[in-house]
Amino acid sequence: MRQRELSNVKVECVQGDIADQPDMDAVVNAANAQLRSGGGVAGALHAAAGPELEEAGQHHAPLEPGEAVITDAFKLPNDYVIHCLGPVYDQDEPSDKLLASCYREALKLADEHGIGKIAFPSISTGAFGYPVEAAARVAMHTIKKVRSELQNVVHIRFVLHTTSDQHIYDDIRKELSL
Ligand code: ADP
Repeated sequence: MRQRELSNVKVECVQGDIADQPDMDAVVNAANAQLRSGGGVAGALHAAAGPELEEAGQHHAPLEPGEAVITDAFKLPNDYVIHCLGPVYDQDEPSDKLLASCYREALKLADEHGIGKIAFPSISTGAFGYPVEAAARVAMHTIKKVRSELQNVVHIRFVLHTTSDQHIYDDIRKELSL
C-alpha cells in the first residue's frame, strides 16, 4: 500500500473489450509483426479504428518480438494505439524477457507522449500461446520495476477478455502489492 502511494500509479484489472475503453488515453494492441488486422485483440482494435490503422502501421512493419510502436487511434475513442509484438510461446526466446520488453517499451512510449491512462490486453496469451498466469506475472513484475520512472502515466488498466483471466491478473496484482 505504501509503495503504491509512493509511486502514484493506479493498477487495475477489469473484464471487458480493449476496443471499448473510452476513458483511456491509449490502448495497447497485441499486434502481429506486419501490424495488420487479424483475430483477437488486433481484430477488435482494427475493426473499431477503421482501415487507417493498418495504413499507419505499415510505416513501422515488421515489428520484432518485444518491440512497441505508437500510432494515432483513428476512430477508436482514444488518442493513441501502442502496438506490441509479444513472443510466440516456446518459439521466441527468452519469452519472459521479450514479454517484459513489450510492457516496458509500451510504458516508455506512453510516458514520452504524455499519456496518463493506458489500457493493456493480455499480450501473447491468445494465438501466441503464453500461459496466462506466467504472462500475468511478467506483466505485473515489469510494472512494479518501472513504475517509479514514470512521469506521466498514472493509471494502468488490464482489460481481460474473460472473468477467469481477470481473476488471475488481479490475484497477482494483489500478491505484488500493486
Ligand atoms: P496474441 O497474438 O498476442 O496471443 P491475441 O489477440 O490472440 O494476442 O490474444 C491475447 C489475449 O487477448 C487473449 O487472452 C484473448 O482472449 C484476449 N482478447 C481477445 N479479444 C479481446 C478483446 N476484444 N479485448 C480484450 N482482450 C481480448
